[in-house]
Amino acid sequence: MAETVALVSLGCAKNLVDSETMLGLLQQAGYDIVEDARRAEVIIVNTCAFIEPAVEEAIDALLDLADFKQDACRVLVCTGCLTQRYGKSLLNELPDVDAFVGPGSVGRIVEAVRGALAGQRPFLVDAPPYLQHAGTPRWRSGAEWSAYVKIADGCDHRCSYCLIPGLRGPYRSRPPEDVGAECAGLIAEGVKEICLIAQDTSAYGRDLEPRSSLADLLKGLDLDGYDGWVRVQYLHPAGITEELLETVANTPAVVPYFDIPLQHADREILRSMRRAGEAEEYLRLLERIRSAMPEAALRTTFIVGYPGESAEKFESLLEFVREARFDRVAVFTYWDEEGSASAELPGKVAPEEARERLDELMSVQAGVSLARNAWFVGRELRVLAESESEHGDGMVGRCYRDAPEVDGQVLVRGADGARARVEAGQFVQVTVTEALEYDLAGEALRRTSG
Ligand code: SF4
Repeated sequence: MAETVALVSLGCAKNLVDSETMLGLLQQAGYDIVEDARRAEVIIVNTCAFIEPAVEEAIDALLDLADFKQDACRVLVCTGCLTQRYGKSLLNELPDVDAFVGPGSVGRIVEAVRGALAGQRPFLVDAPPYLQHAGTPRWRSGAEWSAYVKIADGCDHRCSYCLIPGLRGPYRSRPPEDVGAECAGLIAEGVKEICLIAQDTSAYGRDLEPRSSLADLLKGLDLDGYDGWVRVQYLHPAGITEELLETVANTPAVVPYFDIPLQHADREILRSMRRAGEAEEYLRLLERIRSAMPEAALRTTFIVGYPGESAEKFESLLEFVREARFDRVAVFTYWDEEGSASAELPGKVAPEEARERLDELMSVQAGVSLARNAWFVGRELRVLAESESEHGDGMVGRCYRDAPEVDGQVLVRGADGARARVEAGQFVQVTVTEALEYDLAGEALRRTSG
C-alpha cells in the first residue's frame, strides 16, 4: 500500500514550483498525494527563510505538524530555504523532523522520504543546485487554468539586505527550448494563464551558451493561436531593454504587465542597498514603457525603514510614488537579517517608525490606485473568471493588470446585476462600471474563450 504524502508550501511562487515538483516526483515514485495533512503518513513543509517572520512561520508550521505524529504521520520532512539557511544546526533544533532537503536537492525528495521512512534521518543539501526541466513530473496545485513556469533560479545580484543568493545559489537559466516545451504542454492542457517567474526574469539567458535573453525566450514561445495570457513577473529595472518592450508590445498573448521591484527611489539609499538607479531614471523607464504600451500595468515593491532612511528620504519616496502612478504597489518594512551586509549599517529606523511609513506609503498609493482604476470605468476589459463572489452576486476574476494572489480583482456581474453566466477558468469581456481602491466591478458582455 503506497504511503500518503501531504505538503505545506510556504513562501514565494518559486518555492511553490519546487513544492509541485517534489509532489510530482513522489507521485511518480508511487506515493499517494493527499491534501489533508491529518491523513498523511509523510508530511513535507517546503519552507521560506529569507526574513525573520518567514523563519518563524516555518518553525511554527513544523512544530504544529509534528503533533500529527500522534495520528497518521510517520515522518516529517523540512525542505526549502530554512534547511539551506541554518544547515545541520537544525538537526538539534528540530528533533521531530526526520529529513532535511535544501532547495538545491528538490530532485532527491524521493530518496529523502524513503530514507526517513527507513529511520535514517537524511540531510540533503547539494551544490550545484537543482533546476526543473519540462519533463520533470509536477503535481500542479491551485487553479487548473493558471500555472507558474520557473524559467530560472538563483540570483547574481548582491542587494545588501537580501539572503536569497546564498539560499538559492547562482543564477541559472533553463534552456529556451525546454521552457518552450513546458509552456506548450500547459497550453495543450488548456491552461489560460502562464506566469513566467524567477528571482530576476530580466536576467534570463545571460548565463546560457549561446547567450539568450527574455525577449528571445518570449519570441521563441509557440503562441500562435493561443488566446490565453503569458505574464512575466519579477523584472529587474536594469534588465528592461528596448527589445523586450518591443517583444511584449508585438506579442498579443504576452500581457503588458510589468512587475519591477524598485525597493526605493532615493539615490543614496539605493547605493547603500547595492542597487543602481534613482528616481529620475526610474521615471524615464516608466515613461519608456508607457510610450511603448499606453495600457501597460505597472507594479512595484518598496522597502521602507532601511538603515539611513531619514524622514526627508522617505518624503522623497512618497513624492516619487505620487509621480510614478503605479497600478500596484507592495511595501515591506526593512528587516535586519543576520548575515546580510545591511545588518552592519548604522542609522537603523525604529520598527514602529518603519511601520508608520509603510501605512503612510500605502495610503498615498491607495489614492493613486483609485485614480488609475477610475480610468477604466466605461471601458471594456477581458477578465479571467476564477470564483463565485462571496455575496453570490457574480464571479470574481482578474484582468491583465492582476497577477495571481498579489494584485486586485474584478467583480463580474450579469446584465442588470444578474448572475454572470460564466464558469471559473473562462475569459469574459466586461464593461467596467465601478472603480474601487484596488479592485474593479463590471458587467459581463460575452464569453471570450471556450
Ligand atoms: S535581485 Fe536583489 S532582492 Fe532580488 S533576489 Fe536578487 S539579491 Fe535578492
